Amino acid sequence: MANNKKYVYFYGFGKEHTEGDTSMKALLGGKGANLAEMANANIPVPPGFTVSTEACACYSKNGGRYPQGMEDQLKKTLAKLEQMMGKKLGDADDPLLVSVRSGAAISMPGMMDTVLNLGLTDKSVHGFIKQTGNERTAWDCYRRFIDMFGDVVMGPYTGLTHHDFEIELEKIKKKYKATDDTELTAEQLKELVEVYKKVYLEKVKKPFPQDPMQQLDLAIRAVFGSWNSERAEKYRQINKITGLLGTAVNVCTMVFGNMGDESGTGVAFTRDGGTGDSKPMGEYLINAQGEDVVAGIRTPKDLKDMPSENSKVWKKAHADLMKIMSRLEKHYKYPQDVEFTVQEGKLWMLQTRNAKRTGLAGVRWAVEMATGEDMYTGEKLPKILNQKEALTTLSGDDLEQLLFPVFDIAAEKKAKLITTALPAGPGAAVGQIVFEAKDAEAAVKKDPQAKVILVRQDTSPEDVGGMWAAQGVLTSTGGMTSHAAVVARGWGKCCICGAGELGIDYKKKVITVGKKTYKAGDWLSLNGSTGKVYEGQIATQVSPVVAGVVDGTAAAKKDPIYKMYDLVSKWSDNNRKINVRTNADTPKDAAAARAFGAEGIGLCRTEHMFFEGDRIWAIREFILAEDEAGRKAALAKLLKHQQKDFEGIFKAMDGLPVTVRLLDPPLHEFVPHTKKDQQEMAKRLGVSAKKVADRVKQLHEFNPMLGHRGCRLSVTFPELCVMQTTAIIAAACKVSKAKKKVKVLPEIMIPLVGTKAELDYLEKIARETAEEIIKKSGVALKYMIGTMIEIPRAALTADEIAETAEFFSFGTNDLTQMTFGYSRDDIGTFLPDYLQEKILPTDPFQHLDRNGVGQLVQMGVERGRSTRPDLKCGICGEHGGDPASVKFCCKAGLNYVSCSPFRVPIARLAAAQAAIAG
Ligand code: ADP
Ligand code: MG
Ligand code: MG
Repeated sequence: MANNKKYVYFYGFGKEHTEGDTSMKALLGGKGANLAEMANANIPVPPGFTVSTEACACYSKNGGRYPQGMEDQLKKTLAKLEQMMGKKLGDADDPLLVSVRSGAAISMPGMMDTVLNLGLTDKSVHGFIKQTGNERTAWDCYRRFIDMFGDVVMGPYTGLTHHDFEIELEKIKKKYKATDDTELTAEQLKELVEVYKKVYLEKVKKPFPQDPMQQLDLAIRAVFGSWNSERAEKYRQINKITGLLGTAVNVCTMVFGNMGDESGTGVAFTRDGGTGDSKPMGEYLINAQGEDVVAGIRTPKDLKDMPSENSKVWKKAHADLMKIMSRLEKHYKYPQDVEFTVQEGKLWMLQTRNAKRTGLAGVRWAVEMATGEDMYTGEKLPKILNQKEALTTLSGDDLEQLLFPVFDIAAEKKAKLITTALPAGPGAAVGQIVFEAKDAEAAVKKDPQAKVILVRQDTSPEDVGGMWAAQGVLTSTGGMTSHAAVVARGWGKCCICGAGELGIDYKKKVITVGKKTYKAGDWLSLNGSTGKVYEGQIATQVSPVVAGVVDGTAAAKKDPIYKMYDLVSKWSDNNRKINVRTNADTPKDAAAARAFGAEGIGLCRTEHMFFEGDRIWAIREFILAEDEAGRKAALAKLLKHQQKDFEGIFKAMDGLPVTVRLLDPPLHEFVPHTKKDQQEMAKRLGVSAKKVADRVKQLHEFNPMLGHRGCRLSVTFPELCVMQTTAIIAAACKVSKAKKKVKVLPEIMIPLVGTKAELDYLEKIARETAEEIIKKSGVALKYMIGTMIEIPRAALTADEIAETAEFFSFGTNDLTQMTFGYSRDDIGTFLPDYLQEKILPTDPFQHLDRNGVGQLVQMGVERGRSTRPDLKCGICGEHGGDPASVKFCCKAGLNYVSCSPFRVPIARLAAAQAAIAG
């Protein structure tokens, strides 16, 4: 079968010649699609072509063979590029040189390496000299090319690494007393090239390839191959990147930042990705190439200083860059992260992408791009987004980061400062020093609560696992755009870079600063927002958002962070269609949730009330009682407490609905299981130890989760249902009659119902109890009785159940458990394997399984409303605070989601995003 598939896409020379655009990221990768987009917009990019991700997928699948037709297209497109550039790849007289760059649909910083100056050979290096007249640049490019080609292309098979070349570079520098590589002369670099070729020959056992086409072929294969490298897979795993075909390969005409004092290379951000500040920031190096800026070879200069360089060309280059950056930001409607090179005064853009950022920066960007105002200075900024667009740039994690603790100000003032360096990733981190990424991973694997700070000279892609595990990352070299900084910011992780005062000794595992040393296991505190590194553990403090919302602190409410949170929340409420309630069991939680915008309680679990203080003894008395009279006497003690609790909660939720769930867990959870505790219980309750032990034994169930719990408890002990209903309704009557009238909307929720008859049985008891109290109290109290849908059978027979139930609340924790047949307490034993082998895409207890559990929810809603069209439906499982699940709930037609208090803002945002997406 003929294969006509297009694998190679040209870009450059404007719209007429460019074959891709930014919408083609899946096929061309982010880098390729954006190079094409910039070429379309006549932004100066060096022309080239992109080999698609589909070709990479075929290559992997075919065991390292190019798909049919690709090679032919490659040759033709290269010929077109050569013709338009008027140069031939690696030509002895006038060589075209290219870079070979990887780039998947989602940017993975540093994951796959670039080869520059491809096409240089012993012959073409002279052609390059002839054309440019720049001998030094020619040899500098050649030595870099041998280094990169050896490391990136041949390294994986031969063990040849950048380090092998680095050693030789250092030797030559020493020999000629050069401190910087820029001081080496053309002759010296030429000498270095000869040495590099020997290094290459020694490890690869073949001479450095002198055929440019072979160089290109090997480089493309290396990029394809790197897609499945261990570090690329690890990055994808940590960042949950799935469903990509592979990486594209970009072959780009070289431009040279190493042509002298009017050339250079750099990286820049249209806004600060750490603090969110609206000013462009960046770093550059003069007479440098490629990754020199991020590799920490020389200390890069601050972009702000560019206009005042000696040579005047830099002023113009800077102005051009600012203009292009602002154009790009408006074009992409998002802050950009760009890479550029200046060749003899002319600016070339080599890459643009949506910038990575912390949650705080993300929120600040969204707010400032929509309001057109700097939240800190009040300065006018371009209005780039409307409110809806601004909301869609945010994630729940971004908002959550605003709720993270920061250092207690007083405690930080008192702490011993070790050094100050670059604030590369914000927030506060406290942990014990480790020096190896694997140690950080091991510590957290052993104890998930372990807090470590990863301390490195610099980090590399191999370290991402350890960086993820650590509370914070501290490096002694590297700038704001170093690997550590970029990766940490993307995660919103605390990170401090370039702490040059720290002497880090990996072998001895110590840090030396002046006369002090710190060893592995010592505590450090990092303030990633200021770059300050402290000795010991500093107490942390709630964020201004939490202080403003929960505690109502006036000063906190003036904090720009609080204001940004407030705007995002208001915009969310303007857009969302469903309600957000909270799961809260105490008046304090209820009040906090209400401050976060909760519109009621979707789940008040009553069991916690049974544990507090002395109450546990009353419930134990209930459990041990011989007969109904004994049980009733015990319950009477609990009634007082429960009623008080409900009064507090109703007051906190004045005017809003409160769903109270009747007792749910199996009774064995309330009794002690050790002999000692049982003896104490016996003593306390005045019974024999044997009696306690017997009852505990009796309560033992093989599968308590499927046993005597939920509504089944009240079927056996109706007095329990009577007591709890009494507590709820009596509390409601009392507060609505009180001087300061409270409007109460109680909803009694009967858990774990699987049949209509079960519900009928308890509904009758609850209703009779309630009616009697209401009649006696003389208030016109409205209340509802409903049920949880958490057993598949309940979802299947929802039409019948809705004849009795006035509302449904989907308990998706149990529903997930029973639909999959996975015990949620035991899933840890096999879930990791399921995720690793991709048998499950994600943990279904975290993200609602739409296909299975979701169908039951959908069915429950539809069938329920077929009987009772105005049936109020909500969800109260953990999923209520998971943005993806919230979006599903909106689609399924639920009236509300309910989640823990601190997730309420996140659910509000997710609900708005669902409504905006339509
Ligand atoms: P990464 O994905 O790691 O950022 P890139 O493919 O962007 O890798 O390449 C890294 C750097 O190499 C770029 O920032 C740029 O400085 C340099 N580079 C890549 N291609 C070219 C080119 N055609 N001309 C000049 N420099 C280039
Ligand atoms: Mg790049
Ligand atoms: Mg349940």
